Amino acid sequence: MRRAIVILVILAAGVALALWLAEIGGSVEVRVGDTWIGVGMPIALLVLTLGFLLLHSLLSTIGAMRRLPGRVRARRAERRRADGDAAVTRALVALGAGTAEAARLEVRKARAALGDTPQVLLLTAESERLAGRENAAEEAFRALASREDSRFLGLRGLLRQAMSRGDWDAALALAREAEAAQPGAAWVREERAQLALRTRDWREALALAPPEAPRAGLALAAAEQEPEPERAAELERDAFQADPAFAPAATAHARRLREGGSPRRARAVLEQAWTASPHPDLAGPYLEDESDPLMRVKAVETLVRRNPDHAESRILLARTALDAGLTGRARGLLEALAQSGQADRRAFLMLSELEEAEKGDTPDARSAQAHWLREAATAHPEPRWRCGHCGTEHAAWAPLCSACGTVGQIGWTASSRAAMPAQTAEVTA
Ligand SMILES: [Zn+2]
Repeated sequence: MRRAIVILVILAAGVALALWLAEIGGSVEVRVGDTWIGVGMPIALLVLTLGFLLLHSLLSTIGAMRRLPGRVRARRAERRRADGDAAVTRALVALGAGTAEAARLEVRKARAALGDTPQVLLLTAESERLAGRENAAEEAFRALASREDSRFLGLRGLLRQAMSRGDWDAALALAREAEAAQPGAAWVREERAQLALRTRDWREALALAPPEAPRAGLALAAAEQEPEPERAAELERDAFQADPAFAPAATAHARRLREGGSPRRARAVLEQAWTASPHPDLAGPYLEDESDPLMRVKAVETLVRRNPDHAESRILLARTALDAGLTGRARGLLEALAQSGQADRRAFLMLSELEEAEKGDTPDARSAQAHWLREAATAHPEPRWRCGHCGTEHAAWAPLCSACGTVGQIGWTASSRAAMPAQTAEVTA
């Protein structure tokens, strides 16, 4: 509406100007030599206006023609980019669905349309890996790693490849490069921790373990690898402090203290460990210096004083009492344990032994023994160190299972707490 009014006003002004010019009259004369052209003022203005319009449209057409190839090129590039983006999306879908050949086809289209962008190179590598063509994938990862902007992505892919083929030396070198490319990346730290577990470098694994991970087992394993006694002692103490309930750390720490001339502190460590979690392996070092059977009973009473009703406490006390000939004491402890429902095979076998110790080789004793042996046959077995991965039983805790080679899986079957982080079975992510 407003535009119409503006045009009307301009038209009215034009008509008024034309009328005014016609009224004042006048003419334009052009003289060249002897010839001259004379036209009326309105005609001259009309000719000038027409000339201007003609020249303007001619120049505009020439300009448009000159810009035409650029425009065509831009439109073509835009279409190619759209095609490429669509191919990238289809490739992602195919990768997600696990259809390797479709993914490779789409990635090839995307690469033709978009060139070797980091995104396309990464998709190339992933689709080649999915198709099982590791060499082609490696080539794409190398291309990624050679670019400044996608270096980390390339190294990450190469590291994953090295880990899945078990080439630990190459993996360690790549992990260091990736760390340099992206300092502090959580993913690299995790991979390096896993690498340390796989290469049995417990000290590195301990340094890289996240704060919430179980550390006692790693620290103890690192202590066993440590050639310097002082540093090893420190690691053993760290292991014990990280988890006082982890008996191997407590016994190692106590042994070191005893060898260093502090038997009292060693005993205090074992008592603290027994309080945290009673474990039969703690008894041996605790009673090492005590040979008199009655004094051994007294020592065990001190060891178990904070949790005397725990099944392990009762079993240990009954064992030392029986060895000292205190059969009544042993019977009281074992029968209380049997009544609590927490008795395992050891308790029933000890009761059977007790019958013979008390009554000698009599028919009465034999019948009581038969009863306890039957109970023992159906009771739980005693807890042991067992590999959570293959189930093999071990005489002592170790950072890795000698039967299946898995790291961080040997645990005391009576407790479900892990002592160190486990190595993941397969390379993930
Ligand atoms: Zn195993």
